[in-house]
Amino acid sequence: MQGEGPSLGRRAGFVRLGGCNLHCSWCDTPYTWNAERYDLRAELTRTTVAEIVQRVLRGNPELVVITGGEPLLHQKQPGWARLLSELKAAGVEVEAETNGTLAPTPTTTAGVTRFNVSPKLTHAGDPEAARLRPAALQSLHGTGKAAFKFVCTTARDVAEVAEVTHRLGIPPAAVWVMPEGTTAGQVSTRLPVLAEAAIAAGFNLTTRLHVHVWGDERAR
Ligand code: SF4
Repeated sequence: MQGEGPSLGRRAGFVRLGGCNLHCSWCDTPYTWNAERYDLRAELTRTTVAEIVQRVLRGNPELVVITGGEPLLHQKQPGWARLLSELKAAGVEVEAETNGTLAPTPTTTAGVTRFNVSPKLTHAGDPEAARLRPAALQSLHGTGKAAFKFVCTTARDVAEVAEVTHRLGIPPAAVWVMPEGTTAGQVSTRLPVLAEAAIAAGFNLTTRLHVHVWGDERAR
């Protein structure tokens, strides 16, 4: 199921693509990109589009989520257009998760039902010039298909979300605040801390439902 954001709780099939252009300190999927900690040749498997589609639709989901890593790094490869086209032909909704550093191509915009854009705050560790790309974020916002989800640990982070979204012209109703954490305890502890600040700022709030159920288990 989709554990985060506007589609929280919906049954979904997931396609996880390798590679990322950021290095978030708290990344919960470092095995998709961190060659210093993981053997990426063992972690990442070349898979045909036909097999991806067959596997992701196995449970008859109405929603498919393409995630990573940073999936939009792949959007200029021929397999990307074919994947979107075959998912559209199958009649499923498609959500693309992205860190918001890359503008979507017309093919991506046409093939995606929603972008779950997760720009990174100061606590993620990368320099601002790398993690916040105004042109890409405004391009995603301009599609009319973007929800902006910010990983937060403290009320101060929520204040940073308010400053960043105000600067970029992203309305509060398009923003989701989500606690950082890979255990149910961490997520539950942070939610009430973030909730008051999120509500006061006019933002939406989301938990990480899969973490409540399965913790940090992979392929969940
Ligand atoms: S953008 Fe996402 S996948 Fe990339 S390092 Fe940050 S949390 Fe991990």
